[in-house]
Amino acid sequence: MAKHDYYEAMGVARGATPDEIKKAYRKLAVKYHPDKNPGDKAAEDRFKEISEAYEVLSDPQKRAAYDQYGHAAFDSRARGGFGRGAGGGFHDPFEIFREVFGGGGGGGIFDDLFGGGRPDPTAPQRGDDLRYDLQISFEEAANGCEKEIRINKAERCDDCNGSGAAEGSRWSTCPTCKGRGQVVTARGIFSLAQTCPNCRGAGRVVDKPCRHCHGVGRRDQASTIKLRIPAGVDTGSRLRSAGNGEAGARGGPPGDLYVVLRVAPHDIFERDGDDLLCEVPIPFTLAALGGEVEVPTLAGPATIKVPAGTQPNTMFRLKGKGIRNVQGYGHGDLHVRVNIEVPTRMNQAQRAKLAEFAELCNGKESPIIQGFLEKAKSLFKA
Ligand SMILES: [Zn+2]
Ligand SMILES: [Zn+2]
Repeated sequence: MAKHDYYEAMGVARGATPDEIKKAYRKLAVKYHPDKNPGDKAAEDRFKEISEAYEVLSDPQKRAAYDQYGHAAFDSRARGGFGRGAGGGFHDPFEIFREVFGGGGGGGIFDDLFGGGRPDPTAPQRGDDLRYDLQISFEEAANGCEKEIRINKAERCDDCNGSGAAEGSRWSTCPTCKGRGQVVTARGIFSLAQTCPNCRGAGRVVDKPCRHCHGVGRRDQASTIKLRIPAGVDTGSRLRSAGNGEAGARGGPPGDLYVVLRVAPHDIFERDGDDLLCEVPIPFTLAALGGEVEVPTLAGPATIKVPAGTQPNTMFRLKGKGIRNVQGYGHGDLHVRVNIEVPTRMNQAQRAKLAEFAELCNGKESPIIQGFLEKAKSLFKA
């Protein structure tokens, strides 16, 4: 395949500024990225082409060489000063790919590109985030609580202060990766840069590694972490405990700890967002005669007035007696559904009184039954 001119490949003028080149590359890289064009060989070739062009044009030294000698500047026979030096790993489109779509280090997709310069694999690295699943009671979720959890995680080694070096030891450049922190292995037409197994990406090694962490600078330790859980959380709520993830590498900051909550169900209350639902059984006499009934709330017992003639499943709303909103937007409501209980065990006297009541009934006290009977009657007449 004949090589195109790098400027033509990028669609920029020969005098383009570094900024213009970055912008052009970003646009093309997004358009021809293999993830966006699966199975498209032409797009893949194009992506490699622009990646290669960008590799050269974004580096002032390489760009100058290219301007002077063209592609011959990077021909293996004429490589001259451009060996596996500082910015090595040259014909590797995926190295650039990583730079643009960068996996490590968090941050936005194009941070590296616009932040300028390639990320240094030997630079301090942020620790990993951790996830912890925690079950709490219904009341703890409603009222908020404090919890202590114990987790095993990588902590900075105290014996070497995270350096990985024993006292009196000396550092030297890692012989495996020559200080780059990465080793490049060939995979078909691509080469893959991977963290150096010898120095774990640090780019340097110590002659006497710390005995406690074996030179890593971190080691697994049990940690106790205090959590303040705000009122109003629910199942699936995720709390971030900043800096309580794993320790960073090479002096990098620690990651975060994410606590994912699961709230146990309650015997009486059912939750719907910030609202609560509670079913309260009342005697049929109270439903008929009306009166007051005590109902439970999270803040203690409350009283609702049940009017005479209350039917089964009537709902009563207690405003503001629900769950406190986790964002602080007030409280939800408590909805009480009354369930009317018909007596199942009566003594002689009770039964006699009820029979007496039944004799006094003429249908007017039960309009629902009357309405139904009317409809049924007309059905049989037809
Ligand atoms: Zn190494
Ligand atoms: Zn140590």
